[in-house]
Amino acid sequence: MLMGSTMFHECMRLQDILEAQIEIIERHIDKHKWFHLIADKDQAIADFIEKYGFIMREFYCSRVCKDRLECELAQLYHPK
Ligand SMILES: [Zn+2]
Repeated sequence: MLMGSTMFHECMRLQDILEAQIEIIERHIDKHKWFHLIADKDQAIADFIEKYGFIMREFYCSRVCKDRLECELAQLYHPK
């Protein structure tokens, strides 16, 4: 039995977004640990993502992603 019509509600560039985010996090995580007095790197990464994850995501989806004009999820961010 078919599952019904399937539309994309997933960003197809998630892997690219994650790679970009990992690069940004790696560049900033030592300063983030120091600034917020967090000793553990994993904890610092979780804190960084909690604070800045949505900004990185919106910026990527609205201005960077090469599929932003077609991506259904990117439309939330009014891509240009
Ligand atoms: Zn997308």
